[in-house]
Amino acid sequence: MSGSTTAAATWFTLRRRTTIYPPEPAGRPGICVVCRGPARPGFARCYQCAQHDLLGRGLLADAVVPISYAVKGTAFAAGLWRYKSWRPPDPAARTALLALLLTFLHDHGRCVWRHAGMPAPGRLAVVPTGAGRPGPHPLLELAAPYLRLPVTGLVIRPGEQGRDPNLDRFSAERTGPGASVLLLDDSWVSGASAQSAAAALKRAGARHVGVVVLGRHVDPADRLSATLAARLAPRGYDPDRCAVHLPSDTMTPDPSGS
Ligand SMILES: [Zn+2]
Ligand SMILES: [Zn+2]
Repeated sequence: MSGSTTAAATWFTLRRRTTIYPPEPAGRPGICVVCRGPARPGFARCYQCAQHDLLGRGLLADAVVPISYAVKGTAFAAGLWRYKSWRPPDPAARTALLALLLTFLHDHGRCVWRHAGMPAPGRLAVVPTGAGRPGPHPLLELAAPYLRLPVTGLVIRPGEQGRDPNLDRFSAERTGPGASVLLLDDSWVSGASAQSAAAALKRAGARHVGVVVLGRHVDPADRLSATLAARLAPRGYDPDRCAVHLPSDTMTPDPSGS
């Protein structure tokens, strides 16, 4: 087998092993155009994403791309917790999430950069976890060796934890002027952490920030989320779809029937 054939076979295997809850297209009524969470009827964005304007629109992420929904109570959502929170962390959850992230970036990284209006990223950052555990963030530890991008450090400023969007929550290392940053987050609940981190990166010199989220949290018990949760089902990872393929790609039937 040639090298490229081996690589193609590896990607094929990784894709087949992966199950996600595919994000709904941004153009669908009731779906937030930013985070793909539930939005009130008639609103393009969810309540939380509209709140993020408080950070200053120019400081928000240029794109937010969830790979999957993380529906509370499912194995996928549990893995997002277990890969970092059990002692020791669950190796199976770590392997599965790393495979998902690398496969997605291989297949859809360019979709993210295009959606963000940015060139391929020159730097990598990870949204710090609120728990303040010592050592590098588990997601950074997992992904950095494979992504091989210089890392821009982000830390929580003492006393600035919280759930609201906050320009001062994080401090970021200088990125160098005009940098394009890939910002990873494991879970998006309100998005306040990720957007506060994006704002910190922009204030530290980044021109573009593209956020890739492993799981966009959905709680079926939440009244606004129930309709969305009811129609979500686990599916095999499909390399031909992602959250930012145009709505027409996913909402109109393919005339060729393929
Ligand atoms: Zn939203
Ligand atoms: Zn894509």
